[in-house]
Amino acid sequence: MADKVTDIIIIGGGTAGMTAAVYAGRAGRSVKVLEQTIHGGQIINTSHVENFPGFDNIAGFEFATALYDQAVKFGAEFVYEKVTGIEVDGDIKRVLTANGHYDAKAVIIATGARPRPIGVAGEEKFVGRGISFCATCDGAFYKGKTVAVIGGGNTALDDAVVLSQLAEKVYLIHRRQEFRAEKQLVEKVHKPDNIEFILDTVVTGIKGDKRLEALELQNKVTGEKTELAVDGVFVAIGQMPENDVFKNVVEVDSAGYIVAGEDCHTSCPGIFAAGDGRTKKVRQLTTAAADGTIAALAASEYIG
Ligand code: NAP
Repeated sequence: MADKVTDIIIIGGGTAGMTAAVYAGRAGRSVKVLEQTIHGGQIINTSHVENFPGFDNIAGFEFATALYDQAVKFGAEFVYEKVTGIEVDGDIKRVLTANGHYDAKAVIIATGARPRPIGVAGEEKFVGRGISFCATCDGAFYKGKTVAVIGGGNTALDDAVVLSQLAEKVYLIHRRQEFRAEKQLVEKVHKPDNIEFILDTVVTGIKGDKRLEALELQNKVTGEKTELAVDGVFVAIGQMPENDVFKNVVEVDSAGYIVAGEDCHTSCPGIFAAGDGRTKKVRQLTTAAADGTIAALAASEYIG
């Protein structure tokens, strides 16, 4: 456990956090990035990124690895510990972890968001036993099998396309007729002939013994209930922020996002919020990187 006070502690090693580490390191600050699992964040679950300026097509994992290398090059130290809270003691921010604490002059919270669960009884039991939140990670387990993807955003459509190359059959279940995803992805998802669309439909239940075996569905327009036999389901219905442990030091909104504007300042001086976990309209790789930049420069200015 370090006794030294770090200039800037960044909580979360996703795109926002690692970009903040690059900028804070380049500004000559000592930087620790605290990450509870593996650095990279949500983008490592995206097969191909086609909308980051300057990159025609880069794998999410490759993007995250390059950003990590860049942050390390500028002096960031990555510490793999789960953060359990922050205490503010005058000018010092004490970041509490499962193993102890780290002190900093400024903190950037960049913990992003985690996948939203379906919200039906018993689903936790099937996570890893037929329920997955990551097609890129788990798709290979379903070679030649039948899977469903739930959602109508970029993640769901991207997942469906990836899975159509592995599984024999892919059902895309969405609660409306129209997709929220970008036009190009909507066009792409209509090309493979093994993707079948089940629209205006929600999942109301899950069936299975040791593994997931079937989904109970309900059509929202007709009210009709049906059952769909699947080997696996990929849930892609958006994310929820991961800010519960920060609620006592910074203001969060009713959905749990940290209240912070484009300047990334929170209600607590010296604590900044960057990326998908703050109140904002557009949650993209580019805006996460922009937040990381702004938060690092603001934190550096705050330290003086
Ligand atoms: P999202 O854009 O918020 O889409 C979530 C989808 O799930 C929506 O279609 C929504 O339906 C549906 N949904 C939400 N709650 C539901 C529920 N309880 N039951 C059933 N369906 C539900 O989430 P995302 O696709 O994960 O994307 C998150 C962000 O990452 C977005 O900004 C996205 O553009 C970005 N992203 C970008 C890329 C890329 O650029 N390549 C790839 C992946 C993600 P409604 O449409 O009816 O609300």
